[in-house]
Amino acid sequence: MGLAEHTSKVVAQFDFSDEELNRHVDEFLKQANAGLKQDGTSLSQIPSYVTAVPNGTEKGIYLAVDLGGTNFRVCSVSLNGDSTFNLVYNKVAIPKNLMVAKTARDLFAFLAKQIELFLREHHRDHFESAAHRRSTMSFPEGYRDEQIFRLGFTFSFPVQQLGINKGKLIRWTKGFDIPDAVGKDVCKLLQDEIDRLGLPVKVAALVNDTVGTLMARSYTSAGKHRSLLGAIFGTGTNGAYIEKTASITKPIPGDYDKSTGEMVINTEWGSFDNELNVLPTTVWDETLDRESVNPGIQMYEKRVSGMFLGEIVRLAINDMMKDDESSLFRDTNSSYNDWATTTNVSPQSGLLAQWGLDTAVLSVAAADNTPELSTIRQEMENTLQVYTPSLEDAQAFKAVAGAVVRRAARLAAVAIGAIVLQSGKLDDPEEELIDIGVDGSLVEHYPFFRDMIYEALRAIEGIGPSGADKIRIGIAKDGSGVGAALIALIAQKME
Ligand code: ADP
Repeated sequence: MGLAEHTSKVVAQFDFSDEELNRHVDEFLKQANAGLKQDGTSLSQIPSYVTAVPNGTEKGIYLAVDLGGTNFRVCSVSLNGDSTFNLVYNKVAIPKNLMVAKTARDLFAFLAKQIELFLREHHRDHFESAAHRRSTMSFPEGYRDEQIFRLGFTFSFPVQQLGINKGKLIRWTKGFDIPDAVGKDVCKLLQDEIDRLGLPVKVAALVNDTVGTLMARSYTSAGKHRSLLGAIFGTGTNGAYIEKTASITKPIPGDYDKSTGEMVINTEWGSFDNELNVLPTTVWDETLDRESVNPGIQMYEKRVSGMFLGEIVRLAINDMMKDDESSLFRDTNSSYNDWATTTNVSPQSGLLAQWGLDTAVLSVAAADNTPELSTIRQEMENTLQVYTPSLEDAQAFKAVAGAVVRRAARLAAVAIGAIVLQSGKLDDPEEELIDIGVDGSLVEHYPFFRDMIYEALRAIEGIGPSGADKIRIGIAKDGSGVGAALIALIAQKME
């Protein structure tokens, strides 16, 4: 079998037809509604306790930290009260060993230390005057209330939220695994380490990044169109949307403002299909899942988000190149015919190591429209240590990568389309536009990711081309930082 034919066979395995798309939307709606009625379903549908959205007039300086996956971000946000804001931030990579640390304290002490470093760098005056005052008294009495920064803690893992600044970790995702933290209040874990360092900071709100994205969008586009949904397509994937409280029939354990009749729901859609077996599955999806830290769970996320797409492509490409019949990444002039002696792939190549292929490389492949695919061939030499890849090699890689991401985008449309249908807004003549805020490197940087989502939305029954025209998917930049600050402000008003 020639390389082109072999490639087509692999690509075909990632097909996701319109019929399957619609079947998935039905199943998603079923699970979404089951999650509003009871706990323990495939979509957790977690009440956020956020019952109002900002209108753009909010003012003040707030801290926000974001533990989202690859990085930890600390920022301060000045809300100017006119839909604009100024944001200063530091970003550090989470050391891999802390993602699987023995105790929660190891990770949270690291996070508190980053907050201290940020305050020393960007708010030195405030930090030192507060620290000076405190030196004569014990915490927290040593601080005046206005010296204490309210902090919104964006924590993008499944938590059972018990109040605006209280929530227990349900499970880790995205490669984190610190069993000791599961079941604990993550705000308290962070506050304890902040207090140990004596910082003038109060963890005021626990924020899911998708809820934050939705809030930030409302602040910045106040007076125009209220967003229905905030969605993330980065290391992981998740979405939060506005639901009628009357539809949330399961118990909501903490206090909340009942006057609005609405509450933001964090769907935790990354776990859609846990144990239901409806999602499209190739042998490479199975291998990825088996070799992951959490086999059998986060099945939707494992087909949709940045952390996993590169790995699916890598596994498929590995099988293709190790097939002795295949010419992929081979020196075809060699007199040998086994893979080990004819391969152009360095033993150190990321193609040969788990997680060795960053999803960013898939974006490079998709963006390369040069006739000789010279950009992706260069990228393979530089970052993947494949020596002198041929045009055919690059074509095969580009085709497989494109197929994996296209399936991901169509699966993304399953969640987005289902939430739009759930809202009933398509049938409401008053709603001329349904706004959706999205964030994350995959949707931001992968060429035409949103176009592929729109194409799929048009094929969903009940949406169709006219419905898809009413849906506006816009990038919500810096959403989690600003959104977390806004929720910290709302929480402060409730103190
Ligand atoms: P996080 O979700 O951790 O807050 P990001 O939104 O930046 O951060 O997402 C990081 C994920 O996006 C990683 O899995 C990475 O592989 C992927 N990624 C980074 N750059 C790109 C890119 N240019 N195209 C596609 N995916 C990317």
